[in-house]
Amino acid sequence: MRRRHLHVALLALTAMTGSVLMATAPAGADPAHPTAGAGAKRSHLEAQESVRLVRLQLTGADMLDKVVAAGFDLEHGVKRVPTGIEGEAVVTAEQVAELQSMGVRILDADEGFAWNEQADGGFQAAGRQAVAPLSHEQTVRVVRADWFTTKGQGFLYVEARTTEGQQEDPVVGMQLENDSGRGTSFGFARTMSRFVDSGQYMFHRNLFKLDERPSQIRVTSSTGGVTTGKVSDWLENAPPPLTENRGYKSDFVDGYQTPQQLYSRAKEIARQYPDIAQIIYLPNKTNGYQRKAQATIGGTGQSAVVVSSAAWGHEGGNDISVDFVERPGADLPLAVEVTGKAIRVLLAKDAAGALASTAAQVATALETQSAGLVDRAHPYRTNTGTGIVAATGGPIALTDFLDQKRVGAPEGEVPRGPATIPVLRIGKHRDGTKPGVLIQAQDHAREWVPATTSLESAERLVHNYRTDRETKKIVEGTDVFFILSNNPDGANYSFYNFASQRKNLTNHCPDENADPGRRDSWGVDLNRNYRVGSGHDGYAGGSTVCTSGTYQGPEELSEPESQNIIWLVEKYRNIKFMMSVHSNGGQLFWQPGAYIADGRITTPRPPLGDEAFYWQSAGRILSQVKAYRETVVTPENVGGSSDVLYSSAGNVREDLYHTYGIYAFGWEVGGSVYNPATGNWQGGSFQPPWEGDPNLVSGHSETMEYANGIMEMFRVAADWGKDKKDPKSSLVPGGGKYRAPVDVRFETNEPATVYYTTDGSRPTLQSQRYEATEFREPGQVFHVTATTTFKWFSVDAAGNVENNYDPTKKGKRDSYRTATIRIDKK
Ligand SMILES: [Zn+2]
Repeated sequence: MRRRHLHVALLALTAMTGSVLMATAPAGADPAHPTAGAGAKRSHLEAQESVRLVRLQLTGADMLDKVVAAGFDLEHGVKRVPTGIEGEAVVTAEQVAELQSMGVRILDADEGFAWNEQADGGFQAAGRQAVAPLSHEQTVRVVRADWFTTKGQGFLYVEARTTEGQQEDPVVGMQLENDSGRGTSFGFARTMSRFVDSGQYMFHRNLFKLDERPSQIRVTSSTGGVTTGKVSDWLENAPPPLTENRGYKSDFVDGYQTPQQLYSRAKEIARQYPDIAQIIYLPNKTNGYQRKAQATIGGTGQSAVVVSSAAWGHEGGNDISVDFVERPGADLPLAVEVTGKAIRVLLAKDAAGALASTAAQVATALETQSAGLVDRAHPYRTNTGTGIVAATGGPIALTDFLDQKRVGAPEGEVPRGPATIPVLRIGKHRDGTKPGVLIQAQDHAREWVPATTSLESAERLVHNYRTDRETKKIVEGTDVFFILSNNPDGANYSFYNFASQRKNLTNHCPDENADPGRRDSWGVDLNRNYRVGSGHDGYAGGSTVCTSGTYQGPEELSEPESQNIIWLVEKYRNIKFMMSVHSNGGQLFWQPGAYIADGRITTPRPPLGDEAFYWQSAGRILSQVKAYRETVVTPENVGGSSDVLYSSAGNVREDLYHTYGIYAFGWEVGGSVYNPATGNWQGGSFQPPWEGDPNLVSGHSETMEYANGIMEMFRVAADWGKDKKDPKSSLVPGGGKYRAPVDVRFETNEPATVYYTTDGSRPTLQSQRYEATEFREPGQVFHVTATTTFKWFSVDAAGNVENNYDPTKKGKRDSYRTATIRIDKK
């Protein structure tokens, strides 16, 4: 980015902070899928299609868009890799063939790309041996170089940019070298991977194993640019976790929890700890764990009729039967008889005595003559129903297909019908005076670990409040709102019917996708249903196809579950932090989370102060995750979600941050654990074995380590609430006389945003904002060529203004900062 005003030109600077990407891993365990229910006679069309989890490789964002548009659900487990994008999908054999015809590669379970196996070599950099002249800083910049260790293994992750990165012919290559500690020489040259997204060059990057921590790196471009950068630590030297405090208890959750179990425990907590906890009921009931009773009968293709009951299955729909009857004789009209819940369709016959009713005719007769039992009847999928319907040979029972019981799920009836979602609110002072933190789990039904992670955090708050000083500070300094499952209907479906369910259960599909064979694909992706950067506004990553895994809904906030979130943050205005908890992937991110694909135009990037605050908070949170069993969420998986993952139009975080100023994090818990036995990163799954290998994929271990992180997020919020100290900033180097043009930049003593002027005017919140050189990089550098006066102030993440300056109204003695850079060339 380059901006010009007056005599100030902005120049890029070599920089050293920021972060990003990582090793993919083989697909996790194939989630169980239910077997078709036994009992009532059903046509083969309704049989559950057999599905499996496969790992896919796509060439890039364009292909991802096409695959998503075709209705495939590629959420989670998605990684950017040097050759494109890898992800997982739950698909049928037929869909595998469809994906392959689109050019998608199906990877074997153990074929995940490992960054650390990346081959060296490649181009021969021109002038690589040359000493870097200063002017080359323009062409190559180090974005970040991070060292981290996990399970006894060191890693170096590097991002670097070249100003010629967008160039296609020829593509500009970058080579990376590192030293082996202070004072050693550079070596170990590696070719960096060029990362392009939605047609835009992002940066070059590498992640690889190293046994010794380097002190510096050197990056060389094929056009001759050279720069060096210092290596920083990532999550090294984490402070001890709260779990090491005496009197601090943890490990409360002992298995996966259905929505009923979660809600009932939440209510029990409120009863047991009335001084610090209460339940708030969200006002909009869900659309319900319920479906219309259905059958597809009468034949296949043009001859098939899809029948749906008017009543919900559990309210009488499941008692309905439909019989297509062939009577003896000839020249008989089509007729419908209803006796109680038994519908008999007497099929027409022609003069020769052959059956003569088409599927379209039978559907119309059912809709109009079934005494209100049938609400919807239509031909199958895209057929127009021109085929002659066959007799069924007896009554066919309609069913809502909610009668299956998954082995291992708790006994007892799953409550049918709309659900009311309770919010567990924990805090000593629940009066709006303390910063509110919203923990929202399980928007996506099959993500079971987010729910247990959130419940574990709630348990730690109430159990340790009286025995642990740090927990007491959290409970007294924050106001926490837990939504332990924001998608109870879908979650029940995931537990009891179809483990891979992602969306809610609302069926918005038109006739062509409304037959019961499509039932596992209905529903709205609740995290695509919000208003900012939404698919309805042209942002990428939400689908208009009702059967897609990322279906955004018929309109923004169409679903009660998303309306509830907006209700909550509007009613409790003290909510200033939120964590949208998902699985799995090992990522922590924030804004921007969506872009318009053409030109890759993101939602507005947070100002530098917010960006720095997000990074600082992420470091704290992830250090505590690491403290449990050395799981490292790697720097390439931290940042704006559309930069580190992909664009997700209409996600909740964009709405809460941009509409309400809430620091809205999202994370993907689980997955991406380094396995020292194999030397590879192992990916997670949505429902890992609860007691799996405690060092690898395990629901229990993931719950415990990520609950550590949520506890730290509460401490971030508590500290934020107590922060009454104004930030300090400076112009570096300072004002004074210079004999030649000089490069200057702003520095702040804490995450803060600087507003400045160079035209002599008083700085306000409408003034120029001090920006990053480029995203994921620190602040820009001004190349000052003529005498310039800077006037500025800074604002920290908690809203404190430097020197208590009031930028909104002119005071008698304005306390903004000022400095004059005097260029005196003689
Ligand atoms: Zn999710």
